[in-house]
Amino acid sequence: MKLLVTGGAGFIGSNFVHYMLNRYPNYQIINVDLLTYAGNMDNLSGVEGDARHSFFKADIADPIAMGQIFEQEIDAIINFAAESHVDRSIEQPEIFIHSNIQGTQNLLNLSLKHKVKKYIQVSTDEVYGTLGDEGLFTESSPIAPNSPYSATKAGADLLVRAYHETYSLSVNITRCSNNYGPFQFPEKLIPLMIQNALSDNFLPVYGDGLNIRDWLYVEDHCSAIDLVLHKGVNGEIYNVGGNNERTNIAVVKKILSELNKPETLINYVTDRLGHDRRYAINADKIRRELGWKPMYDYESGISTTVKWYLSNQKWMQRIASGAYRGQ
Ligand code: NAD
Repeated sequence: MKLLVTGGAGFIGSNFVHYMLNRYPNYQIINVDLLTYAGNMDNLSGVEGDARHSFFKADIADPIAMGQIFEQEIDAIINFAAESHVDRSIEQPEIFIHSNIQGTQNLLNLSLKHKVKKYIQVSTDEVYGTLGDEGLFTESSPIAPNSPYSATKAGADLLVRAYHETYSLSVNITRCSNNYGPFQFPEKLIPLMIQNALSDNFLPVYGDGLNIRDWLYVEDHCSAIDLVLHKGVNGEIYNVGGNNERTNIAVVKKILSELNKPETLINYVTDRLGHDRRYAINADKIRRELGWKPMYDYESGISTTVKWYLSNQKWMQRIASGAYRGQ
């Protein structure tokens, strides 16, 4: 199978590239990434020289550059490429519309034109908005995004749906909860807190720290996408989540305890605008229909993640110094 993976130098995309090449020795992966601040070729050093992997720097919204890449007879595309940080979307929504909406539409057009057999949109639980104390998001929960980031992800999902309904493009959408694990850019909660704790810097926690997220180890997200790629029913949406709801402050305290650092490093800061209170996913459909099961529980996932960042300090330092962008 020849796969086009977009955003494959980012956090989840690079984990997916490693996961798939390990699991399927005969697969080819064409990896396209614009290498924004979030794209990091260091994440792909493990596949350097592997003839099954080829990398192209391009903008998914560029019809000409992407048109040339689509000439390569692709079987399926998995679209991870996106601007992904909520705080940046509050500062600069325009680039989110460009990459997340225009980029998705360009990929959908090219998938139709080149008769790609399957298009997978990697979406997020954030398209459902926020929950109160009770309940879980299901695939039929209303779309009610609250940040420019989640609004552009929701817009992209609706385009994917429309290309399926209007042009019969074969599609799936996955909506996953918060991921953590190796190669996550240290602006996101878990790597940021690990890094700050290691340097004895303050750990900034938004508001009262009681916002709840449902955490999933990145490899379990990759295995879910693998199943959707091979067994997903055309046109279906699949929620992905591990039933690991934790408050942000509980996550931060867990990291401090893993690293033997004091809780006095915690520093509460002004809350993010429009900060969603709670996300929690009902993943019964993918478990029941595709047989998906996460391999990591929260305790083992966090401890594996902390160990990874501890033994990959060079990876962190190259980001801190900016050297990772010089490639
Ligand atoms: P990330 O920011 O680490 O990676 C995104 C990658 O996309 C980067 O390598 C970046 O260079 C690339 N990119 C951005 N704009 C591009 C463009 N116009 N053309 C080509 N490449 C471009 O993000 P991530 O955390 O790996 O998330 C990947 C996908 O999964 C995103 O679509 C995100 O919405 C979704 N998602 C993320 C999470 C999470 O917890 N991180 C959870 C659910 C869904």
